[in-house]
Amino acid sequence: MSLWQQDFAVFSLHPELKYFDSAATCLMPKVVADAMHYYQCFEHANSHKGLYPLSANATKTVEKSREKVADFIGASIGASNAQEIIFTASTTQAINQVAQGYVKQQINALAIKDRVANVIVSEAEHHANLLPWQILSQETGVELRIAPITLSGTVDLKALSLLLDKNSVLVAINHVSNVLGTVNPIAEICQLAHKKSVPVLVDGAQAVGHIKVEVEKLSCDFYVFSAHKMYGPTGIGILFAKQVYLEQMQPLIVGGGIVTKTSFTEHYLLPAPLRFEAGSHNVAAIVGLSTAIDYLTAIPLAKRQNYLQQLSSYLIKEMSHLSFIKPLLAFEQLTTASIFSFVVDGVHSHDVASCLADDNIAVRAGHHCAQPLHRKLTIATSIRVSLGLYNSHADIDKLIISLRKVQQLLTIT
Ligand code: PMP
Repeated sequence: MSLWQQDFAVFSLHPELKYFDSAATCLMPKVVADAMHYYQCFEHANSHKGLYPLSANATKTVEKSREKVADFIGASIGASNAQEIIFTASTTQAINQVAQGYVKQQINALAIKDRVANVIVSEAEHHANLLPWQILSQETGVELRIAPITLSGTVDLKALSLLLDKNSVLVAINHVSNVLGTVNPIAEICQLAHKKSVPVLVDGAQAVGHIKVEVEKLSCDFYVFSAHKMYGPTGIGILFAKQVYLEQMQPLIVGGGIVTKTSFTEHYLLPAPLRFEAGSHNVAAIVGLSTAIDYLTAIPLAKRQNYLQQLSSYLIKEMSHLSFIKPLLAFEQLTTASIFSFVVDGVHSHDVASCLADDNIAVRAGHHCAQPLHRKLTIATSIRVSLGLYNSHADIDKLIISLRKVQQLLTIT
């Protein structure tokens, strides 16, 4: 059994559950749920509004959490600080904020000068890091350039450097692919882009829960992620942006809590971060995120990384013995990331996932919101196994047994 499985109350109700869908959302440790419950029962109030103690406490909770997030992603070194951390609803919302609030203005400024701007993404992006740029392209005519990936599943740096030019306004790239589990060389990508003065947005949704993220060291300009991919709740995400970009960015959503002065005809915005957080904060979710960070950081990073790497290696080794399994990346290219996607020749992914579900095994089947990547790999769908701290070698053994059953049931030769 995993050292950490007992931290997740769901297993007391579903002891047979083998949960392999952490890339969709991680299960929540009881301490996280308890902290949210406590806040909602005993401390709930609107933050940044009231002068009474309950509200002041909620404000303190939000601002302390902001500092904790800054620390967690290494944004507190040097000139950076917690004011560069924006609470959003999700990774998706954070990317839309950057697309509509910052990049659109840059494009318009270039267009005025009669140049066609371009935004570069990779072939392996989640739709959350593709559609906002497609919409922008339809709205403004910005050219969407697609950087290819190599056989090892990471961005082809040579090809990327050829795509970068003086009209590039942003590189938007995933840190860890939600389909392939590959880790992109973000520091090198930033170096390449910065040589041409192009900022880089990193979609860290699949990274923060697994690898150490240090935005200052990576030198990225924007970093976005969601709490629910790191054992926290849904409904809360983070946009880290360097101060210089925050100063140029307009809020995507406007309303209460973001102005110094308003009349019927005009308004004056507060400085970042509050100008990007219109409406009431999702304080309970912020408490959940903060507690998830405490939960993760209480476990030495090397310990959790080693554990998940060992599990990943075991999974890959066991999978490689199943002749009917075709991984999306060749087995020899697979590293020890916690995501493994495959197809079963001649069988629809949904059929495989349904059979596994009958054995209480939860995997994801479909295109995982990465249809263009699947199309490039000339497949429609795949099955994804993704690992979390609650998984164990025994879970993987059960998965392998079940897959063998699927093979027999569906008479795959
Ligand atoms: N990017 C990646 C790489 C993801 O895996 C996901 C979630 N599957 C997202 C973005 C979107 O995250 P959210 O749904 O929390 O906005």
